[in-house]
Amino acid sequence: MINIFQPCLGVEELARIDDVLRSNWIGKGNATLEFEKEFGKSLGTESKYFTSTTCCTEGLFLATELFHIGVGDEVIVPSCSFVAVGSAVVASGAELVLCDVDPRSMNVRVDDIEKCISPRTKAVVVTHYGGVPCDMDSILDLCTTRHITVIEDSACAVRSFYKGKACGTLGQMGVWSFDAMKTICTGDGGMLFLETTDLVDEAKEALYLGLPNKQTSGMDSSGSGKGNWWEYQVTRPGRRAIMNNIAGSIGLAQMKKLPAFLARRRAIHERYHHELADLEWVSLPPSIPANCESSYYFYWLESGKRDALAVYLREQGIYTTFRYWPLHRVDYFRTRAKGYSFGSLPGADSASDHMLNIPLHQSLTDDEVTRIIDLVRLFPG
Ligand SMILES: *Cc1c(COP(=O)(O)O)cnc(C)c1O
Repeated sequence: MINIFQPCLGVEELARIDDVLRSNWIGKGNATLEFEKEFGKSLGTESKYFTSTTCCTEGLFLATELFHIGVGDEVIVPSCSFVAVGSAVVASGAELVLCDVDPRSMNVRVDDIEKCISPRTKAVVVTHYGGVPCDMDSILDLCTTRHITVIEDSACAVRSFYKGKACGTLGQMGVWSFDAMKTICTGDGGMLFLETTDLVDEAKEALYLGLPNKQTSGMDSSGSGKGNWWEYQVTRPGRRAIMNNIAGSIGLAQMKKLPAFLARRRAIHERYHHELADLEWVSLPPSIPANCESSYYFYWLESGKRDALAVYLREQGIYTTFRYWPLHRVDYFRTRAKGYSFGSLPGADSASDHMLNIPLHQSLTDDEVTRIIDLVRLFPG
């Protein structure tokens, strides 16, 4: 089976893990801190605005805490969002307000958001679909004027840039994922960007037992400090959702490979785009907007024959899927979504009925890409 997504890990990661195991410091420490630094650097943003965590979902739940989102508030979420976005909003006690997306790009448009704003709107969570940036100038303008917090789900968008600025660093908070299906993989893991260092400090405390930051900086140096070192204070109730050095060291090895990963993804993307362009029964994704750089996380086809195409490709050993099944088609979220009525999200509905994500990852060989293209071309329909 040709996978649709696949991690790309090897001897470089093993060598770094070896170092960590020999160091006897497996928990969060230098490898993790260095990974945070490298990640920030590759986004052209100072690393003091970043902190790592166990997964992106953790960051989405944390967002509702950091921005005091709760009962009486509303959060606008494009319906084609990752499931955890819906869960984080519902769990906070805030009302989930589902908005539409562009049926071709799957990105939320400023008008989609504007239609859903009420005096209670506290935040919006945008997803840069497949690594293609949303039109952030218009969205940020609107949200700044209306005092709405912008959280960027950038799980698809590692090193995507909008007008030279990294996706995930444009709003008040950005979250990334390093799970097994993402561009870089640390086993599981996540990264957070926050607009201010005060928020970063709060995030670190919430993610590490509520212990004050000062107490936990320099984690590798056990035994330092003064007095009775077993005494402690907490600033807030905290969870334990920090990245460990095993994951951090894998992340460091992945960061070195990231430019090559992105170049490979781009090449595959371009092959699909050129070699499927003449097919009349299928539409290809819109081109990347000017002034933007994509991470080339997804490639997709749009067709009235989507369901049959998916079955045919699977029978031929090629796995496909559709991301992200809209929250308004998930009973749990639909029944809780404020203001949703049948047919009110035509863009998301159209995409969900016609779109199919096809394999795109850096480990695909040229022969595999050729095979996928040939099979799509030969689809008897
Ligand atoms: C994978 C993904 C997440 C969740 O990431 P985890 O690290 O698995 O929690 C969130 N949003 C999007 C868009 C994703 O693709």
